Amino acid sequence: MTQTVDPVADLRDQLVAWRRHLHMNPEVGFEEHETAAYIEAELRRMRGLEVSRPTATSVLAVLKGAQPGRTLLLRADIDALPIEEENTFEFRSQKPGKMHACGHDGHTAILLGVARLLSAQREAVPGEVRMIFQHAEEIGPGGAEELVMKTDLMNGVDVVTGLHLNSQLPAGVVAVKPGAFMAAPDSLHLTIRGKGGHGAHPEQTVDPIAVGAQVVTNLQHVVSRHVAALDALVVSITYFQSGTTHNVIPDTAVLQGTVRTFDPELRQRAPQLIERVIKGVCEAHGATYELGYEFGYRPVINTAWVAERLREIAVETVGPEQYQDAQPTMGGEDFSAYLEKAPGAYFNVGSGSDAEDSRWPHHHPRFTIDEVSLETGVRMLHAAALRLTQPG
Ligand SMILES: [Zn+2]
Ligand SMILES: [Zn+2]
Repeated sequence: MTQTVDPVADLRDQLVAWRRHLHMNPEVGFEEHETAAYIEAELRRMRGLEVSRPTATSVLAVLKGAQPGRTLLLRADIDALPIEEENTFEFRSQKPGKMHACGHDGHTAILLGVARLLSAQREAVPGEVRMIFQHAEEIGPGGAEELVMKTDLMNGVDVVTGLHLNSQLPAGVVAVKPGAFMAAPDSLHLTIRGKGGHGAHPEQTVDPIAVGAQVVTNLQHVVSRHVAALDALVVSITYFQSGTTHNVIPDTAVLQGTVRTFDPELRQRAPQLIERVIKGVCEAHGATYELGYEFGYRPVINTAWVAERLREIAVETVGPEQYQDAQPTMGGEDFSAYLEKAPGAYFNVGSGSDAEDSRWPHHHPRFTIDEVSLETGVRMLHAAALRLTQPG
């Protein structure tokens, strides 16, 4: 009788155990001390890995293969969010106000699984595989930028890949695309200064709430009337704070928002387009303003040949029926920092299912993953480690 050997299936319980331990013990960006210590301890139990700490809360495991080949960077992010978890399962967060609500607990478990598999088959691995457990993805300027700028992590790296679990895709589905994959998340901070007074006599005031409301409405004209429909741009005002009570017109209103683009030229042009609207509206009503504009992560633009290799790997490893061409999203990711230094591609693994109630959006207090996605992630990154390191 022959038995098919499936080392990933053998890892199933371990993957779940890692993920649940991390889920119960979330830490936010730059504070991942226990998380990093746990990852390091797990990696040190595996044979043949060089384990180090490039920064205080990131962990690197390097596997030098026995065959010549290329150097591949695999990346998992490890940080949680300042969210109070509303899930009631037994492995919910044990830390008040902190939660793994983006799936980074799953990313970490997946990369630990890949490290375990590779450490057991060093003779079969070409080149070098660097596995970076990256801190602080959720907090700008981000852990990736720190690793790229301040350490030698990227020296000699030929290609890079990594994944994000995605609750909006069915569990086990893999999705990738060449080119624009995730947007640049920039932000604006606006203070509108009017002139306060009695709510009964608006004619004696410059009402910053009325002006702010017009700014919000008119900013949508930047999107719909100044930018071509196919040039993706999102402007969302997400914060509007003003006033103290029902019968006083306040002096100021404070607004904040996010601006999302893919195209570098449009990204550079967006602040001028936005300020023109703010200036026009404020001047028309006698208000003044201060505008702060902050550029966030660069967009994630996948290298075409790497995306194509990942598509081939997905079709072979998880099957054509589990593969989809990805839709670009307006979400942002500091994975883009690695792509400044080496070709590479980021991809999605679906983690949503009704059975596990895991279709809640990322960053929601009910977010969770269908744990079958852990196996899919391991299969993809393990196959990528063996293929993308091939010489040539
Ligand atoms: Zn997130
Ligand atoms: Zn995330």
